[in-house]
Amino acid sequence: MKLEENQLTGTGSNAHLNQLASVGQIAAGIAHEVKNPLTAVKGFLQLLQQEHDHEYLEIAQSELENALITLNNLLQVSKPDLEDEEVQKIFLSVELESILNLFQDKLYDITIITDFKNMDVSIIGKKNQFKKAFFNLIKNAIESMDGKGTLTLTHKCEQDEIVVSIKDTGAGIPQDKLSMLGTPFFTTKETGTGMGLMQVFSVIYQHGGKIVVDSKENHGTTFIINIPLQGQLKPNGVKALPLEYVEESSIKDFFLGNRKAFEEKLLDEAINVKDQIDEIQNIGNINLLNNAHKLVLFIVEGREHDLISFAKQEGVAWAKHSLTLALKLEWVKAIRRTMWNFLYQYDLLNQTQADRLSFFSLEKNINDLMDQFLTYFFISYSKFKDELLEKQHKLVEHLSVPIIPLNEEICILPLIGTIDDRRIMTIQDKVLAEIETNHIHTLIIDLSGVASIDTQAANDLVKVIKGISIMGCKPILTGLRAELVKSLISRGIGLNSHAEFKGTLKLALHEVGFKKQLQIEME
Ligand code: ADP
Ligand code: MG
Repeated sequence: MKLEENQLTGTGSNAHLNQLASVGQIAAGIAHEVKNPLTAVKGFLQLLQQEHDHEYLEIAQSELENALITLNNLLQVSKPDLEDEEVQKIFLSVELESILNLFQDKLYDITIITDFKNMDVSIIGKKNQFKKAFFNLIKNAIESMDGKGTLTLTHKCEQDEIVVSIKDTGAGIPQDKLSMLGTPFFTTKETGTGMGLMQVFSVIYQHGGKIVVDSKENHGTTFIINIPLQGQLKPNGVKALPLEYVEESSIKDFFLGNRKAFEEKLLDEAINVKDQIDEIQNIGNINLLNNAHKLVLFIVEGREHDLISFAKQEGVAWAKHSLTLALKLEWVKAIRRTMWNFLYQYDLLNQTQADRLSFFSLEKNINDLMDQFLTYFFISYSKFKDELLEKQHKLVEHLSVPIIPLNEEICILPLIGTIDDRRIMTIQDKVLAEIETNHIHTLIIDLSGVASIDTQAANDLVKVIKGISIMGCKPILTGLRAELVKSLISRGIGLNSHAEFKGTLKLALHEVGFKKQLQIEME
């Protein structure tokens, strides 16, 4: 069903979205007011508990904790720091693309179709807010498809508007729920917050745009967004932050003294990483904020050596826990931007403003070190991953040479699949070692599962078989397929003196005295 335009758009007199945006603002306002006294209550409860513990106190505290979490969620959406964001030129298709990257590892069987036109047309607005909004919309779309489906993103310019659509083939939204969309706390998900769409609507409203939703249960949902090219928001360049500055302090001290402000600015810049900080801390025990401070200090102090070993260490940690690389890139980019913003502020506050020459040398030093960090991070990341792959490969190869003992002296080696020279080496190593340690007397090699073998590998296999017989073990070959035999003959590879041949594994077993058991089993 297609929703009536006026039910969910933010222009004109209708403005359901308009109402929703104000509901959001009011809710956030209340949240802000209520949060402070509740935080105070939390403190007093803790004091009370120190005096004398009571089970009700625990309950009161945990309920209070829940309430505070809810309030924080609400505040996330229209936090003043987001409202204060500077206005700038935004290429929405570029942002869409970069947000999409953040979902790489959640896509499974989801096909992505992008149709981006007029990519060189920009709008004016608050970039991080848009990023967050697209993040919320794409996240919802992916969640609605439960791992399987098609996500289609389009971008185009129509008259004086950018039109973006986000379409999924997911669960869809029942008609009676459509009007609830964007209401704070409306969610149908077990762990949902019902804050996502509220943020989306309020951003679009603030930029003078409109949003329409078209959804059909069990078929999917499309959100279509129109944003005017010339919004009501005007650019205001680099914004001065209220930073502390002590006369003649060094850049390092300046960063140390403004640690808190740096964190806040950084989190504003890395809007999508922000939501994942706790998760990354939990999964990999990686404290992104502390690490950001560390990186910045290494850079401004020019500690190249420490920086490189830190980058390597981070690369391994990131690889070990299979964390998304796009996230790391976004984070490092945010650190770079925030750092430059701070350097700019430092230069303003530090009256002896740097001349061009010293500025460019600073620029070179800082960017060089940042690049070094990224280079070493990626090298150690991929090295770790490559080594892991190699280890797994070896393990699989080892498992693909199963030597199964029938009794103290007789073993079977069933070979399956393609045999290449790499595998031959594994076979050789494993077989010879096993013969030596377990004094195997007879080894039945069953080749009925081997499809093909190339010349080099066939030659090597013959050598392994000779080796087996030299070690005093009798090799019996079974299940040679006609194809394999033909190729052995055509290459003039003979084995008669070294191995016995039996048509089938059953015959070979019979030969070595397993007649009785076999008959019993067959009955
Ligand atoms: P949350 O994702 O935390 O539930 P949102 O505000 O992002 O909160 O979404 C609110 C609700 O709207 C979701 O719980 C879901 O029922 C519905 N919804 C939003 N987007 C979609 C979509 N693309 N497909 C199906 N349902 C959706
Ligand atoms: Mg959501």
